[in-house]
Amino acid sequence: MGTSSLPAWNNETEYKAIGAPDFNADLGQVQSAVEQIQAVNRELAPWFDGANKDASATLIQGLQKISKLSEEAGILLSNLSTYINCELSVDAKNAPALKAMSQIQKTGADLSTTMKPYEVYLTGAPENVLRDYLASKQTEAEAFIWRERRKMKDLMLAPSEEMTLAQFKQFGLHAWGDLYDQISGSIQVQLPSKGKSVGVAEASGYLRGSDEALRKEAWHGIQQGWKTFEEPCSAILNNLAGFRLEEYRKRSHTRAIDFLEFPLMDSKIERATLDAMMEAVQSRIQVPRRALKAMAKSLGKTRIDPWDILAPSPRAGKGASYPFEKGVSLIDEAFTSVDSRMGEFVRTMVKNNWIEARVLPNKKPGAYCTGFMKSRTPRVFQTYMESYNEMSTLAHELGHAYHSWVMRDLPVAHLEYPMTLAETASIFAETLLADHIGSNGDADTRFGIAWSNASDAAAFLVNIPARYEFEKSFYEARKNGTLSAGELSELTDKAWRKWYGEEISETERQYWMTKLHFSISGVSFYNFPYTFGYLFSLGIYAKRAQMGAGFSKAYIDILRDTGRMTAEEVIQKHLGEDIRKPDFWLGSISIVEKKIAEFEKLLSH
Ligand SMILES: [Zn+2]
Repeated sequence: MGTSSLPAWNNETEYKAIGAPDFNADLGQVQSAVEQIQAVNRELAPWFDGANKDASATLIQGLQKISKLSEEAGILLSNLSTYINCELSVDAKNAPALKAMSQIQKTGADLSTTMKPYEVYLTGAPENVLRDYLASKQTEAEAFIWRERRKMKDLMLAPSEEMTLAQFKQFGLHAWGDLYDQISGSIQVQLPSKGKSVGVAEASGYLRGSDEALRKEAWHGIQQGWKTFEEPCSAILNNLAGFRLEEYRKRSHTRAIDFLEFPLMDSKIERATLDAMMEAVQSRIQVPRRALKAMAKSLGKTRIDPWDILAPSPRAGKGASYPFEKGVSLIDEAFTSVDSRMGEFVRTMVKNNWIEARVLPNKKPGAYCTGFMKSRTPRVFQTYMESYNEMSTLAHELGHAYHSWVMRDLPVAHLEYPMTLAETASIFAETLLADHIGSNGDADTRFGIAWSNASDAAAFLVNIPARYEFEKSFYEARKNGTLSAGELSELTDKAWRKWYGEEISETERQYWMTKLHFSISGVSFYNFPYTFGYLFSLGIYAKRAQMGAGFSKAYIDILRDTGRMTAEEVIQKHLGEDIRKPDFWLGSISIVEKKIAEFEKLLSH
């Protein structure tokens, strides 16, 4: 099969085109909703300002009206922006799409600013106001959202301070993140073997390539390129952390909080859960270290080098090829082994043209799953090149799509799940496919699967914990003052040594600046949710064999509850386990161990 017959997605079901009458009508409706919310805000100003503390019908009805208006506007805004993103994904240079995107972003910013007083007020409102507010068809589904948000009730500042802080973040906190992006975009990496210098993105691409000499050259080039900027980069980290620590100090007026309070809240997990997970990984650190050793061995080394961390299987490209139809039918079979409805869903995705798989000149790299909020239908984006990896990625994205599909009848307030739970269905789907192909695949395919299992174990159980370790020790140290670039490198080295042990030839001392994740302004500790998602999904996967026929229903119920319960509650309810105890996590690590043992067996033959 030639790549010419790869499917294109059909999004005309949503809009005729950017700027078409149906598109403009939705945009106009969002803008009008913003104005209507502003009018309600004016009406409720005495309550929002704190001048009026008494509940009244005007207050409750006003709040409920904002809920309705913002939900409707949110659906349309999401639909419009998904449509534009889809257009830009197949053609990054689409000029009308770029223009429409900036308009949508402006409208989105207006909507979220307009919503702020309502959010601040309801987060801190008296219990009776919240109870009355939730007592309507429109708002009853919001109970979980507000229960979670109100966990920070005693951490609130005065309403006017909350508004000021939100406004100033743009030019304070977020400006540091912008600066990082600008530096990253301007760095030139010297690649003597290519006789030229390239940007960081291109150089990083070579780290994922099969040519070791080029990986090594790119890695050294990247280190060299960033070295020039170590002063501004350390200023970025110091100020991001300084801003946050100061905010946490101000919020600690009633009870003291530390730097993990908000990341944990965003992740919908408890501290005991995070600690139990990290302790479990630390206690079984030999498992992922064996993965690193096996990877080194298959690269012909005794210890892995830092430029090998992202390397593909040394036998990549030698396995069987999987044309699109074949890939889809293998995924269908793998999904069907859990539940016939899961397999049927794969066929629905294909039949309705909800998958974009073509190879196009201006297509954006990568793969993702998205969805239209108006029709509640998912879409999958990918450039499908027929390798095992791409088939596995397709399964991953179809896993995400299935997650949203089983939630399609739920109220909007139940749809948003945290990053910790977001990868459950996708990693589950990947694992399902790998196990299905498993013993039936040819030798090179089996090797490729074993390699990616080892590489995942090393990434999620060594690299990510090292990032978490570094960030934690950095925030601890930052409380006592700023850290120099040299000190940040020392902390990085210590964290890498603790987790990698002797399994790596040298540590990446500049990782604190080469890794974007530490300098994201919108979120801190953008690391432990990855390890969580990986082990959590494997833990659920392990239940499949134990539960037999009853598993499929439990699985769908778990997915449906991801937006209306914490991770602890979901697992307690459906699997009867307490993830605040190490046992659940140790169970997942045992699955990883089996996979690593298979890899070692392959290598010894
Ligand atoms: Zn994913």
